[in-house]
Amino acid sequence: MQDEQKDLLLIVPLGGVEEVGLNMTVFQYADDLIIVDAGLMFPEEDMLGVDYVIPDFSYVLENKEKVKGIFVTHGHEDHTGALPFLLKEVKAPLFATPLTIALIKEKLKEHRISDIPLIKVKPRESIKIGCFEIEFLRVTHSIVDGVGLGIKTPFGSIVHTGDFKLDPTPVDGELMDLHKFAEYGEKGTLLLLSDSTNAEKGGFTFSEKEVRRSFEDIFAKAAGRIIIATFASNIHRIQQVIDVAVQYGRKVIMCGRGIVSNAQIALDLGYLKIPQNTWVKLEDLKKVGDNEVVLIVTGSQGEPMSVMSRIAMHEHPHIKIKDGDIVILSARIIPGNERSIGRIINHLMRRGADVKYEKVSDIHVSGHASKEELKLMMNMVRPRYFMPIHGEYRFLKYHANLARKSGIPEENIFILENGEILEISDSGISKNGKIQSGRIFIDGKGFGGVEDIVLRDRRRLAHDGVVIVLVGIEKLTKKIISGPDIISRGFIFEDASQEIINEVRGLMAKTLFSIGDNIISDTSVIQTKLRSALKKYLRDTMDRRPMIIPIIMEV
Ligand SMILES: [Zn+2]
Ligand SMILES: [Zn+2]
Repeated sequence: MQDEQKDLLLIVPLGGVEEVGLNMTVFQYADDLIIVDAGLMFPEEDMLGVDYVIPDFSYVLENKEKVKGIFVTHGHEDHTGALPFLLKEVKAPLFATPLTIALIKEKLKEHRISDIPLIKVKPRESIKIGCFEIEFLRVTHSIVDGVGLGIKTPFGSIVHTGDFKLDPTPVDGELMDLHKFAEYGEKGTLLLLSDSTNAEKGGFTFSEKEVRRSFEDIFAKAAGRIIIATFASNIHRIQQVIDVAVQYGRKVIMCGRGIVSNAQIALDLGYLKIPQNTWVKLEDLKKVGDNEVVLIVTGSQGEPMSVMSRIAMHEHPHIKIKDGDIVILSARIIPGNERSIGRIINHLMRRGADVKYEKVSDIHVSGHASKEELKLMMNMVRPRYFMPIHGEYRFLKYHANLARKSGIPEENIFILENGEILEISDSGISKNGKIQSGRIFIDGKGFGGVEDIVLRDRRRLAHDGVVIVLVGIEKLTKKIISGPDIISRGFIFEDASQEIINEVRGLMAKTLFSIGDNIISDTSVIQTKLRSALKKYLRDTMDRRPMIIPIIMEV
């Protein structure tokens, strides 16, 4: 019996096969368990009060003494964001390339985790761990220092691509290691796990260098300031902005915590190159002419508290939009964020900025392989079995269709759900059952621990009740015509004095007033502000955390 169990290799995606984000996969043979990536997902609009979402990894916690190593393919949040929560409990060595390690180190520092060995590995290096041998394979992607993995197991080799595209002219000149991938094909590969994010898209994904041409066009014509929002992790994009800025004699100012710290890390490690006197401080913005500066900021997805949002809402202390400003949202519009991004574009345009975004300008290319590249990957690796990963079901399905067209038999293609087990033994490969899986909702830095959102809501309602803030706004003039009124159920207001209720009403009125003219059109911003002001007040003064629901009625 014991022996029988020993001769099984289990592959379990704990996240990333039902969504974009939460990427995490477990490989287990007997008492050796390794984890590839542990990512997060940003909450969807209806997930009130949730800061982010991570995969349910209770299976790993139940088997934590078996975890031999954690392998991280690259530094994107959807591959690293759950690490602090995992590494609080699981003390195993983590292996990744230098930039990825540096980004993870920063993250662990924030969570005060210092007892995890972080081991830097170079592409083409191999790590022997338990019965596995893991080789790092250089890929090109929208972050530098990305890798795929070649995993040697007792049943044969498995290739995990990580996130990739085939960029023939990468910004840093580090080409994808096609030779190595082809070598796996030569030697025979049991199973390929491949990135499906762009499996819907035909053709090839453009090289990151293509973005440069669009930037050059914009810079050449710009008479005023240029403000560019992009992902803090997209070092290639930041590099290209810097290069074009230098070309057109502009200084660069970076603004937003993520961008400044990532750029500093990349600069220290030599992944980012900035000529002397090019990167200047935000305080110096006044000293440089409008046509002598480009600002790189966070908030390309319209995140409510980001720099770009604050600029759009006229709330940034240093950066105020004026006529002649060009704003570039140089990132993909992530599905689900259309509304918040649209809102920001409206605000920016209303204040006089010329806004360039994905739909109207070629200021972004994807970091993920399109159909032709995915086929090429399959043809290089030539796996016996295929499992699409990274994406919603339809992306996986498209990718599976491609695999079939590339000659992999239908019965050798496996689309798994989160928690489903792919079992490999001498007699073949098959799906076999499911372990506990799902999504965990995090509120703050692990504050309140990790729990299911429904449970959390129930618990919160049971312990602290609910507080509703009601404001009536006149549709045309946007004037407050009623409220703010405070209604509570199950919360201690009933026992509290009228004084506290008055105080809360005063606080809400003050918060509304501080939003000022931005009250135009933006109920979700008003809601966020009211909620966070009241949350902080109730926590500080009474140590209570009721559910807070601000309701804005337009009449
Ligand atoms: Zn990525
Ligand atoms: Zn990813």
